[in-house]
Amino acid sequence: MKQTEILAVGAGPAGLTAGIYAARSGHKVIIMEQSFAGGQMALTSEVENYPGFSEPVGGMLLAQTMEQQAARFGCEMMNAEATGIAVTSGGFEVATTAGPIAAMTVIVCSGVKPKRLGVPGEVELVGRGVSYCAICDGPLFKGKEVAVIGGGDSALDEALYLSNIVARVHVVHRRDEFRACRLGQQRLRERSNVDYHLSCVVESVDGTQRMGGLTVKNLKDESHYSLPVAGVFIYVGWLPNTGWCANLLALDGGGNIKTDDRLRTNVPGVFAAGDVRNTPLRQVATAVGDGALAAMSAHDFLIGKR
Ligand code: NAP
Repeated sequence: MKQTEILAVGAGPAGLTAGIYAARSGHKVIIMEQSFAGGQMALTSEVENYPGFSEPVGGMLLAQTMEQQAARFGCEMMNAEATGIAVTSGGFEVATTAGPIAAMTVIVCSGVKPKRLGVPGEVELVGRGVSYCAICDGPLFKGKEVAVIGGGDSALDEALYLSNIVARVHVVHRRDEFRACRLGQQRLRERSNVDYHLSCVVESVDGTQRMGGLTVKNLKDESHYSLPVAGVFIYVGWLPNTGWCANLLALDGGGNIKTDDRLRTNVPGVFAAGDVRNTPLRQVATAVGDGALAAMSAHDFLIGKR
């Protein structure tokens, strides 16, 4: 069985930073990731509020650079999905799709996955018009009309990105006011190819083989209308990836991992960092800070055991 002192589950900015700090402190570190490094950050077209870059930097580029930095300090990158965790006499056994790993400490950085809207046609048409990632799928809709659902930073940032590619973006938001920051709202308002459908909700994603459009309901006058878009990008929030560790760790009402001010969970030796924990702010900068702190807490835990 593979053995390590510190296992970081997830290679987003939290996991990669945890790896960098833990490896620099002299520990054997495995960073496990089921898909690609960077998590949500890698799927972000441009990151412009992460300090150190005077110009916006591509999320994927930032992810690759962090991954190279972690590798330079000797972190072992492992491509697998965590499927369970159990306490053992030496620490923990984490079940993965590539076999079990024995770890003295675990830093949970497994991030979040997109929340679904939960309307008819959504699941059936994923990959055939329905998407949760503008940077992945936006170019498929070049010259066409698309909708973006949501009123937070993700929705407005990605609507802005899409407005450079597609013919027209329809932003559908359930309220009259946006949750997104003012700068994001202002930038989008300056685009001539963006229409707003405020106080509106999607009732269904329509089509059989391919998406043909959306049925939208105006919440103010209760009217219904069809929005003939070729694609829809859904940004209505995120759900923490805790299915594999929920048996062991205490979660809050939203399913986020509860942590203390040293990012310790309820189980000694298990720490949580980044979007997966109950944090008031989900940013690359906060995930990076979490990763550093969780790594040093894991370091202190290991020193205390010696
Ligand atoms: P979010 O802030 O939770 O916003 C989700 C949006 O979806 C809200 O506008 C919400 O409407 C709407 N919504 C939720 N459930 C819905 C439903 N069932 N039907 C229709 N609409 C629904 O999520 P986010 O935008 O992904 O941002 C998550 C975190 O990441 C935030 O802290 C954000 O600041 C951060 N972030 C920052 C940046 C940046 O700094 N540039 C970029 C991306 C994300 P209501 O407003 O009515 O609740």
